[in-house]
Amino acid sequence: MTRDRASLVKSLSRRTFLTRSIALTGAALLPASLLSESTKTRLILLGTGGGPRPRKASSASAQVIVSNKIAYVIDCGNGVARQLAFANVPLTGLRHIFVTHHHSDHNADYGNLIWLAWASGLSTRVDTWGPPPLESMTKLFFQMNAFDIDTRIKNEGRVPLEPLVHVHERSEGGQVMQDENVRVTATLVDHPPVVPAFAYRFDAADRSIVISGDTRPCDNLLKLARGADVLVHSALYVPGVDRLVARVPNAPALKASILAHLTSAEDAGRAAQAAGIKTLVLSHLVPADDPEITDQMWIDAARTYFRGPIIVGKDLLEI
Ligand SMILES: [Zn+2]
Repeated sequence: MTRDRASLVKSLSRRTFLTRSIALTGAALLPASLLSESTKTRLILLGTGGGPRPRKASSASAQVIVSNKIAYVIDCGNGVARQLAFANVPLTGLRHIFVTHHHSDHNADYGNLIWLAWASGLSTRVDTWGPPPLESMTKLFFQMNAFDIDTRIKNEGRVPLEPLVHVHERSEGGQVMQDENVRVTATLVDHPPVVPAFAYRFDAADRSIVISGDTRPCDNLLKLARGADVLVHSALYVPGVDRLVARVPNAPALKASILAHLTSAEDAGRAAQAAGIKTLVLSHLVPADDPEITDQMWIDAARTYFRGPIIVGKDLLEI
């Protein structure tokens, strides 16, 4: 991003937040010529709600980065394949899946995404990256669905699915992969008791994007995210947690767990400010569907520490 454009985003954003009470992005206000430049490497939020309970308002955690028609999917919450269809991202373009951690709101449709992409015509290699036991999860998934897979190979002339999928388990941070579009780096984040849990950074020619995954405030994330154009950070609206847990019988344990392993919107803003992020995107919102928590309340919470543009994540929003 040039200095002129950066200051344009900044000044537009300031004006926006002074005069509007809804979530807007600096990028949304840019002239078309600059907008096309800024969206060359596309980021689409597929699912922005935190937690495994299916909701009307938002799908579970998933994002896709699209570059040169190649789809890099980060997390596979329930509904990810259909969300990609809604986003007009062809499933046949799926090449890489990055799993941040093995909580069901991030991996429930990991196998389904690969399987349904293949059933939609995918016939090229897919690499998947994430913590153990990704390898055995993948094997067992294919085993569980062998009847359909074998039937479609024999009956519909499809290529065998299993040889297309290459699983890369990892337990440490560092460079994950690099191709002609992006360099991907991971770091360990702090999401007890789920170990390991990762954040991923995508450096493309035109922009850098960091996906925090789930974490409580964590120095590793600050280091990974330093200077990035976009940080998609999981966020908790602390005053809403009591109302959220009141709906379930295991309220005390669930509340303690939520508060111990996630980051508040205020602290997401603090992380974005400390890491010198240009645009902060709040996602994996907890609570995900409390009508009493408005976009402005999320923004105000993150604004406590972060001075740049803040976007409240919405399913299918392109950033
Ligand atoms: Zn989690």
